[in-house]
Amino acid sequence: MAFDKHFDVVIVGGGAVGSAVAYFLKRVLDFPGSVALVEQDPTFRRAATMLSAASIRQQFSTPENIRASRFGLAFLRGLADEHGPEFDPQLRESGYLILATPEGAPLLASSHRIQIAEGADVALLDREGLANRFAWLSLEAIGAGSLGLSGEGWFDAATLLGALRHGARAAGAVAVTGAVTGIARKGAAIEGVHLANGSALGCGTLVNAAGTAAARIAALAGRTLPVEPRKRTVFVVDCPDGPNSLPLVADPSGVWIRPEGSGYLTGYSPPASEDSAADPSDFDPDHAIFEERLWPALARRIPAFERLKVKSAWVGHYDFNTLDQNAILGPDPEVPNLLYANDFSGHGLQQSPAVGRALAEIVAFGAYRSIDFGAFGFERIAAGRPVIEAAVI
Ligand SMILES: Cc1cc2nc3c(=O)[nH]c(=O)nc-3n(C[C@H](O)[C@H](O)[C@H](O)COP(=O)(O)OP(=O)(O)OC[C@H]3O[C@@H](n4cnc5c(N)ncnc54)[C@H](O)[C@@H]3O)c2cc1C
Repeated sequence: MAFDKHFDVVIVGGGAVGSAVAYFLKRVLDFPGSVALVEQDPTFRRAATMLSAASIRQQFSTPENIRASRFGLAFLRGLADEHGPEFDPQLRESGYLILATPEGAPLLASSHRIQIAEGADVALLDREGLANRFAWLSLEAIGAGSLGLSGEGWFDAATLLGALRHGARAAGAVAVTGAVTGIARKGAAIEGVHLANGSALGCGTLVNAAGTAAARIAALAGRTLPVEPRKRTVFVVDCPDGPNSLPLVADPSGVWIRPEGSGYLTGYSPPASEDSAADPSDFDPDHAIFEERLWPALARRIPAFERLKVKSAWVGHYDFNTLDQNAILGPDPEVPNLLYANDFSGHGLQQSPAVGRALAEIVAFGAYRSIDFGAFGFERIAAGRPVIEAAVI
């Protein structure tokens, strides 16, 4: 078929992940081919990148996730030096405190061993260690905690996205505004994409970086991805007499809280039995969750939070991998010029630099050269072989 233009690489989705692929291809690897970054909504108002809690941790149980976040950390630390002070991502390295019940403590300890082996700066604390460090914390039903001593915290997502997009475009990536509505596939190869405005772009490689729309894009190519949008409400809360210095605290109940400005951000990840696919156009905050889940859990864990007040709330959607909540990365074995950069659940923003670099390596060299993400390949999906991540928030 005839295409209006041809690009060596077309990336669908210009959020942090798609932009990072373009950034690493053009700016870092000096890829000589042409790259188009196709985004349907350049305001990113509904993109997970802009609706996330923008936090970064090293406390995972899968070595690939720890490595990805450690590269993300180095990238964030160097962003202002690389791009100038206007791209300072305001990284606050205040740590994560992940709490476990007595039953969950052995799993926390085994994840900690993996983190230490990967070079992460994380301390495992028993009840006494927790009591000594955190006077504001109630240890009811807590067996242990692990605390990031450096290299974990939060940052400004818009600045990271801005730097990635700016860097990619300055190095020659072409930003195309449009919605991909069709994919031209011939046998085992993608030939190009159709846009809603009637134009068509031919491509040598197609990268799916469409976030919660990843399964829809895969389906246009006749492929199935186990990814669903899962609704998450983030609450902005105030508590004048709350602790004034706090890491991100992740409670075994699924509730988390961290400082933001003079207040806090808090949210809740429900257990699998209460979580289901959501309408990706539903952006109405779920206030009942605050009353029924968040507030009671927060007041139990940090008694000063009994006096919390909600100031505002927003909704975003995880691109949730129903097999194992880990990313799906790299080529489709049946359609090798279709690359996935999808299914990050709640940790895709911090991983975007590492994923961008990894996918750029696949395009430029045909193989991973830095972090080997082979374990996150599509093959495990086809085989129904999950790569379990124990530390999901
Ligand atoms: C409430 C919440 C809290 C989170 N907290 C964290 C956190 O603390 N730390 C962390 O690391 N991660 C966090 N995440 C996860 C993180 O935000 C995502 O994993 C990450 O932003 C995914 O980036 P992306 O570029 O893949 O997707 P997105 O940012 O969603 O971008 C995808 C883009 O694709 C575009 N698109 C879709 N379909 C088409 C189409 N057909 N044609 C053209 N364009 C299309 C969309 O418009 C969108 O801009 C959180 C997510 C949520 C929802």
